[in-house]
Amino acid sequence: MDLGIQGKRALVSASSKGLGLGCAEALAAAGVDLVMNARGSDALEAAAERIRADHDVQVHTMACDVTTPEGQTQVIEAAEGVDILVTNAGGPPPGLWSDWEREDFIKALDANMLTPIAFMKALLPGMMDKGWGRVVNITSQSVRAPIPALGLSNAARTGLTGYVAGTSRQVAPHGVTINNLLPGIHATDRADSLDGGVASQKGISMDEARAERAATIPARRYGTRQEFGAACAFLCSQHAGFIVGQNILLDGGGTNLTM
Ligand code: NAP
Repeated sequence: MDLGIQGKRALVSASSKGLGLGCAEALAAAGVDLVMNARGSDALEAAAERIRADHDVQVHTMACDVTTPEGQTQVIEAAEGVDILVTNAGGPPPGLWSDWEREDFIKALDANMLTPIAFMKALLPGMMDKGWGRVVNITSQSVRAPIPALGLSNAARTGLTGYVAGTSRQVAPHGVTINNLLPGIHATDRADSLDGGVASQKGISMDEARAERAATIPARRYGTRQEFGAACAFLCSQHAGFIVGQNILLDGGGTNLTM
């Protein structure tokens, strides 16, 4: 399917690996020029180089921490005038409800709520002036059904979801859509680190920890970054202009819901 977005320009934050990289790759395959970001420059430059070689698009890189005001300013300057924004950052650590202090909540809110809001505030006006834009926020299945050990993530991402619910209706008259993609379990470094924690806690191998988690998913496997990226690129396409303010689960059926 021709997504109709060749020649457009996108910012994908936190995109040297995992789900962000999947989104960057799928947009590049649709002919979209990119601004890519991550903290570590080695993986970022390697990913950008692969994408340039595979897709013949322009890729600008900005290595910085998007959860800091300085990092946000750098990324926003590099991304000025983009047509498409995909927001992403690392997820907060797991723990118990009583573990977290104010500072832990502030960090989680910065990463998974206030950073995407800062990017939207900065970049939506340019999209609205042009009468066309697409925003996709990478959140989590935890906004539909809480993951008890990820209380910081449950809290921060639900806050972002509330902000998007109202804001998406305010910008839709200008041809701009905002939607959230909710990953369930995907095979990325983040999944490895969560599985590693379970493996050491239970005294089992990584493969056993993965097999246990995969068995809880109706699809009986983890999702891939390519599947995730394809869904993101569709939401950014010309065909998705009537999809507004939605929270779309990509979880192999893992979240047990009727609606
Ligand atoms: P990942 O494989 O660990 O990749 C994270 C990417 O983000 C890397 O490129 C990393 O590069 C970059 N990054 C992390 N923190 C950053 C920061 N502060 N500033 C700039 N770049 C940053 O993670 P993932 O699995 O793709 O997950 C992406 C998001 O989806 C996370 O918020 C995660 O919690 C959420 N999620 C994932 C799953 C899953 O199963 N994978 C499920 C639900 C939700 P650097 O480390 O070099 O910065």
